[in-house]
Amino acid sequence: MTPVLGVRGVGMAYGGGVRALDDVSLTIEEGELLAIVGPSGSGKSTLLHIMGTLDRPTSGTVEIGGEDVMSLSDRELSALRGRQLGFVFQQFHLTDGLSAWENVATGLLYAGVARRSRKPRALEALARVGLDHRSGHLPHQLSGGERQRVAIARALVHEPMLVLADEPTGALDTANGTAVLDLLSTLNDDGTTIAVITHDRDIASRLPRTVELRDGRIVSDTRAEAQAGAVSGSGDEARPLADTRKAGKAPA
Ligand code: ADP
Repeated sequence: MTPVLGVRGVGMAYGGGVRALDDVSLTIEEGELLAIVGPSGSGKSTLLHIMGTLDRPTSGTVEIGGEDVMSLSDRELSALRGRQLGFVFQQFHLTDGLSAWENVATGLLYAGVARRSRKPRALEALARVGLDHRSGHLPHQLSGGERQRVAIARALVHEPMLVLADEPTGALDTANGTAVLDLLSTLNDDGTTIAVITHDRDIASRLPRTVELRDGRIVSDTRAEAQAGAVSGSGDEARPLADTRKAGKAPA
């Protein structure tokens, strides 16, 4: 099966000799839910921007759905983003004057969806995040947790190949943060492929796969074993993959 995303040997150098990423390789398969975790300055945002085709790396390649995106023009890249990727940000980024469903419908603007289909599609996406009863509310009439659910509906509405969530619980209290993580898990159970960028190890440990960045390099890549039989917190459920992947061999 073609991976949803392939990042191969990616490096990112900024002016002043900063190497934000160094030889990073990462493959995301359809149906995965993973965390990319690391302390501040480890390169998470840089990697997110490269995975989301918002920035081009200084070395290496990026493939989305098997297509090498390095040779695409900026215009082609924005079309690819509009159709294949969904973004969720820490600060929601909803438009103030638009209702919940209108905000969600903005996720369809660049996806080639006919105007008359936009409202029903937006309402359907709001129902998936449990907010169909708030479709006419403006952002300021919603709680933080509800706003983030609207933003998640907007990221999903065009059925992207991959959703990239940048610290999606970072602006929420614990209860709302947990609810948002549970929602991402449910959406993943329904088939959505999701990568969550976070500095929070507790969040990362709750997801089925954790990729850890440090100083611009991947230092570990672990997957939880199948749910049945896994003993939470024992440490036995995690299986390190970093060595096999770094060496370019197929994981066992
Ligand atoms: P994180 O998201 O994990 O906090 P970043 O990807 O933002 O990490 O940053 C990784 C490194 O790259 C840091 O040393 C940071 O200072 C540097 N960096 C990030 N963006 C820029 C930029 N636009 N110009 C120069 N250095 C940058």
